[in-house]
Amino acid sequence: MSELVFQAIQRTTEALECHVDREWILGFSGGKDSTALLKIFVSALRKVKRFPQKVSVIFCDTGVENPVIDSYVKGLFCLLNSEFENLGLPIDLIMLKAPVEERYFVKVIGRGYPTPTNSFRWCTQSLRIKPVSRFIENSFADDVVVLIGSRKAESQQRRRSIEKMGGGHWQKQVEGNRRYDLFLPILDLSLADVWDSIFLLDYPRSIDPKKLESIYKDASGECPIIKSPDAPPCASGRFGCWTCTVVRKDRSATKMIEAGHDQLLPYLEFRNWISKFRDDLDMRWLVRRNGVPRPGPFSLMGRKTILEKVRELERAVGQQIIDDEETIEIKRLWDLDANHPQEKLC
Ligand code: SF4
Repeated sequence: MSELVFQAIQRTTEALECHVDREWILGFSGGKDSTALLKIFVSALRKVKRFPQKVSVIFCDTGVENPVIDSYVKGLFCLLNSEFENLGLPIDLIMLKAPVEERYFVKVIGRGYPTPTNSFRWCTQSLRIKPVSRFIENSFADDVVVLIGSRKAESQQRRRSIEKMGGGHWQKQVEGNRRYDLFLPILDLSLADVWDSIFLLDYPRSIDPKKLESIYKDASGECPIIKSPDAPPCASGRFGCWTCTVVRKDRSATKMIEAGHDQLLPYLEFRNWISKFRDDLDMRWLVRRNGVPRPGPFSLMGRKTILEKVRELERAVGQQIIDDEETIEIKRLWDLDANHPQEKLC
């Protein structure tokens, strides 16, 4: 294993020893970088004499996560729970979710938000960053250390974004009124180091490196869960939402289907359909909600068409995609827009 991996473990061990009275939160996306981070963190935690007062591993459930990674992470969380308990490691595994009014289909079908593009990328904030920010802001005492698996070598954009924030393993972050420390122990690791950590570090044993490798084969990178607005969209060759229209083509899903994950095909077909549908101006208001004369939200007819398509997809894949709480919220939002002047023009 490379010296850089040992250094990352050592750096994390020292940080844990130095900040034992603080609460630690590790952002986990299920992808390779955060898996390497978790392995390095657990290796370090097993070395310290005294555990921090609280450790949480958080996963942000967007409700529209790539189904393969979604079921992988949810299964893994169950296994990790038992493993950490057996090892006597005080790690809580926590699934975060955006409040109902901020979820993907409530925004698209309920409020009529056009599906995200590079110039209107409302999704990352709503679905990933805000739930994590709220968790950090609301759940913990003053002293928090947040660990994420960002690496400079991931992309030029990521390198620039890290360097803009200071470029070191420790950075200051602000969340509302709270300042906290962001710790990036695997900042310098190469792709090979990441896979070495995943394959060669023993714990947690619940992580099956071969399984991760096989589902991850053709993707790279992970979705940001901490503010980094100039980071690339989560689905540009990486795991992300199956609905992602920020990228022109969902190469990640396409490659996974080619590799045998046929269950993703109906999801990809829906994504491709809605990507075109968002540009059908007959299905949009003529002005935005703020009065700017540019194509605005989907009309109620557009929103109903999308809902029908989602229901078709649910039947095709045998999974509920929009739950009852979301359906009620969608109908409530439709009622609010029923008498909107723009609706009368549609
Ligand atoms: S994967 Fe795409 S749709 Fe999902 S949060 Fe990232 S940019 Fe937005």
